[in-house]
Amino acid sequence: MVTNKQLADLIFPNVTETVADLEKRYPPRDLPSGAEVTRFAPSPTGFLHTGSLFTSMICRKVASQSKGVFYIRLEDTDTKREIAGSGEQLLKQLNIFDVNPDEGYLGNSEKGNYGPYVQSKRADIYCIVIKHLLEEGKAYPCFCTSEQLEELRAEQEKQKLNPGYYGEFAKCRNLTNEEKYEKIKNGEKFVIRFKSNGNHESKIKVTDLVRGEFEIAENDQDIVIYKSDGLPTYHFAHAVDDHFMRTTTVIRGEEWVASLPIHVELFAALGWKAPHYAHLPVIMKIDEETGNKRKLSKRKDQEAAVSYFIEDGYLPKSLIMYLMTIANSNFEEWILNNKFEGMEDFVFSFNKMNNEGALFDMGKLNFFARELLVKYNKEEITQLAESYAKEYNQKLYKTIQSNRAYFADIMNIDREKANPRKDYEKFGNVLDIIGFFYEEGYQKALQEPLPFNEKFAKEDLVEALTAIKEKLQVNQDEQIWFNDLKEIGASLGYAANNKEYKANPEAFKGNMGDLAEILRITLTGRKNAPNLCTVMYLLGLEETHRRIDAVISLLK
Ligand code: GLU
Repeated sequence: MVTNKQLADLIFPNVTETVADLEKRYPPRDLPSGAEVTRFAPSPTGFLHTGSLFTSMICRKVASQSKGVFYIRLEDTDTKREIAGSGEQLLKQLNIFDVNPDEGYLGNSEKGNYGPYVQSKRADIYCIVIKHLLEEGKAYPCFCTSEQLEELRAEQEKQKLNPGYYGEFAKCRNLTNEEKYEKIKNGEKFVIRFKSNGNHESKIKVTDLVRGEFEIAENDQDIVIYKSDGLPTYHFAHAVDDHFMRTTTVIRGEEWVASLPIHVELFAALGWKAPHYAHLPVIMKIDEETGNKRKLSKRKDQEAAVSYFIEDGYLPKSLIMYLMTIANSNFEEWILNNKFEGMEDFVFSFNKMNNEGALFDMGKLNFFARELLVKYNKEEITQLAESYAKEYNQKLYKTIQSNRAYFADIMNIDREKANPRKDYEKFGNVLDIIGFFYEEGYQKALQEPLPFNEKFAKEDLVEALTAIKEKLQVNQDEQIWFNDLKEIGASLGYAANNKEYKANPEAFKGNMGDLAEILRITLTGRKNAPNLCTVMYLLGLEETHRRIDAVISLLK
């Protein structure tokens, strides 16, 4: 008779260590009570998704605020889907958002006593645990070929039964140890499956930190835990790693809720205490075509990848701050009260998380982004723009380099003052806003019809511009400058006093707002522009005159 032990030895002849050895190698962590150990466990299959940044930001926060540990584990057991270099890339991007691990996978190296932190380097650990399950009769080799499994699926579909390898359909479960031994000796290919004791008709109670307690059908599938390539599947690796890395709180996307029964059963079979689970809501958006809510899609939505925000010149912190408003309903009020500062002191709580998919709201992100960018002084904002442009936006970089002081003056318009203007949310579109200061941008504006108010005839415009050219000086003092403009206006029949104008508009050509708009459109090509007095000051008298001449000749 072949015992379980003999079968396990046949499959893993070189595995001599035991689960008890692993317990010793990875002892419980010595942390203050209440400290939470969290992890971000990306698969190296592509770019950092906005949803993954959301998850890892919460992992970081939960660990920090409880004086625990946040680590990164690379889940690379699905070798077919792996994209070379994406692990390093993920880390780099997390670092940009200041979501840094205390230990774990660090790209070319790793840090911490609970490693290796890359799953493909942990094969020996998984084998020890699988051997143990085989010895206990809680796992078995399965020799079914993919054709046989396909047939099984078709049959189940025909009979309208749950698909999968379970109960009566789990053929290899019923092989005797002798048969299994023989097949392995004969070199038949196999995987190893976990032997489930569950019944899909019964329910178990599970607790989730976001959703609270709920019932879910028991697992009855004999899932594969060890593939023919010698690596485990996600479910099994999760249990082993989170146990031996001493994770207290598994924070992951809600797509894993459905797998919870498998994980609960695995932990129970291994005799381990399961970690706490928090399944986070997915981030949604309103589909532009259908008007319906849907998940952010890697394929369709640029905002699904965090690289979009980096490359478009958002301050990383503005995205983090915005994501925290999705994470906790009380955060927005908190950060408003704290004047957009000291986010580290905010206490995150799973209770305040909405478990329905949160809508990604670009408008709100932009609001936070503007509030943050307004805090920087002239030199800081210039430096931020410059370092962004150097890496991601050559056109802006060249513009800055052409005259850094000029660019700094432009960025400083209405900035270093009591009520600064909140013009910028990101650096990616700065040139759309201030491009007219530069020849190329100005010429581009002149290509479009200038948006002058239709109540003015060309002659009125030419008359106003000619007078301004003759008499208006540049001045840093806005009051003096405006008084000069008023005087010019009065001499042409523009009302200097708005009350008088309103009482009797017919008596005037227009008001001062009209006159200023004529000048604004002439100098900038647009109706909305920064402070006109400063625009004129920065352009200088000569350039102001050149632009007035250019527009006059366009009008004639
Ligand atoms: N590697 C899994 C994923 O990328 C991780 C899930 C988890 O955090 O446990 O979806």
